[in-house]
Amino acid sequence: PTSCFDVVVVGAGAAGLFCAGVAGQRGLSVLVLDHAAKVAEKIRISGGGRCNFTNRDVGVGNFLGENPAFCRSALSGYSPQDFIALVERHHIAWHEKHRGQLFCDHRADDIVQMLLRECEAGGVQRWQPCGVKAIRRREDATVRFELDTDQGVVQAHQVVIATGGPSIPKIGATDAGQRWAASFGHRIVPLRPALVPLTFDAAHWAPFVPLAGVSLEVVIETPSCVPVAGKGGKGKGKGPQMAHFTEDLLFTHRGLSGPAVLQISSHWQPGQALTINLNPQQDLAAALKEAKSGSRKQLSTAWGLALGEAAPQRLAQAWLAEVARQHPALQPQAALAELKDRDLDALGQAANAWQLVPSGTEGYAKAEVTAGGVDTRELHQQSMESKLVPGLHFIGEVVDITGWLGGYNFQWAWASAMACARALQSA
Ligand code: FAD
Repeated sequence: PTSCFDVVVVGAGAAGLFCAGVAGQRGLSVLVLDHAAKVAEKIRISGGGRCNFTNRDVGVGNFLGENPAFCRSALSGYSPQDFIALVERHHIAWHEKHRGQLFCDHRADDIVQMLLRECEAGGVQRWQPCGVKAIRRREDATVRFELDTDQGVVQAHQVVIATGGPSIPKIGATDAGQRWAASFGHRIVPLRPALVPLTFDAAHWAPFVPLAGVSLEVVIETPSCVPVAGKGGKGKGKGPQMAHFTEDLLFTHRGLSGPAVLQISSHWQPGQALTINLNPQQDLAAALKEAKSGSRKQLSTAWGLALGEAAPQRLAQAWLAEVARQHPALQPQAALAELKDRDLDALGQAANAWQLVPSGTEGYAKAEVTAGGVDTRELHQQSMESKLVPGLHFIGEVVDITGWLGGYNFQWAWASAMACARALQSA
């Protein structure tokens, strides 16, 4: 016999489980299904195993997409405080790290178990592993959809697509949701890996390979491929907007990572340069020229001092050796007092505005999130329902809303799921 539900949620991840639990507790009959054997695996591996489940300070400015203002309504309808209250009702211990990021004290699985208990409280049925082969519309006022699943045909009054994006394919992530959306006539903003390390040509990167593991706080900028709002953006008006972050940079064997690079990667487009200020506190050219008079120091010593304590000496010296390749006057053992101002200007400016062009990203295998997705202009912002197909909804990462690093992607998953769950109706 064919099963029939008020709501079928496809994807038992962060957004799908949360939506299913709330809708179930509102009295709707709900089925959530997922092709993966393990539930919400992305939550389990998130935040280094501790799940950065939200951020105290959430606003539209922390999100990217073609139309980031779309997320305002859902975010104001379900705040970080609301989610914290839920976490506390489930007695999950949590703590705040820097920049308002909230993590579980013990393990990310606490959040998964919480979502499962909420589903149970709502009488939600869960089928896993259960793939979905097709979703069809029906000309019927109550049964508007039919799904071919591995466990047979399922009918539904409403369908919620919560399949996330293709980042980390090895745990079952796919772009199936975006493909279903396209098959129903939705425009898809092209997908790209985001919050992802950036890579460089091996030949270009060779001098920096020994720096793998070095980390320091920098200011990083790039012309953004999407509209930039709020704290991350600089320069409104004509021309490309600059995305701009002050965060830690990490050297890796293949390129750059760390929060600064993950954040900027969401804005970066192939061919564009990054500009990195290795010491935002100091005008390095001015500092070198000031240190010059009467100095008996070698350039390498003066340079190490100018770059400051924040920059490890390993970095200072490797970097100087690299600049010396293009500016023969800037040999590490040169006497500072004998160097020309214009050479010191070149050195200082090169470190205050280091320009480099990544060759690519580490791709979906390493991306924490997928940018792009279902075009928000074709969704209702109060309910996440399709403007094209009544009863069809999209929540979480499948939508063209991408959060910054720091708990924002989960807050979007919770908030969009809640907006949807509140709007769902019985047949
Ligand atoms: P998901 O949680 O990815 O759930 C989608 C579900 O759909 C999955 O269970 C998947 O198996 C299922 N699915 C996919 N295709 C199909 C199909 N064809 N049929 C049936 N089911 C399908 N964000 C934060 O805010 N804080 C963090 O600390 C954080 N850490 C992260 C660490 C890592 C390593 C990664 C990869 C991501 C991290 N994120 C973090 C991002 C966050 O995990 C996601 O943005 C969030 O999980 C998206 O929720 P979602 O419900 O939309 O999708």
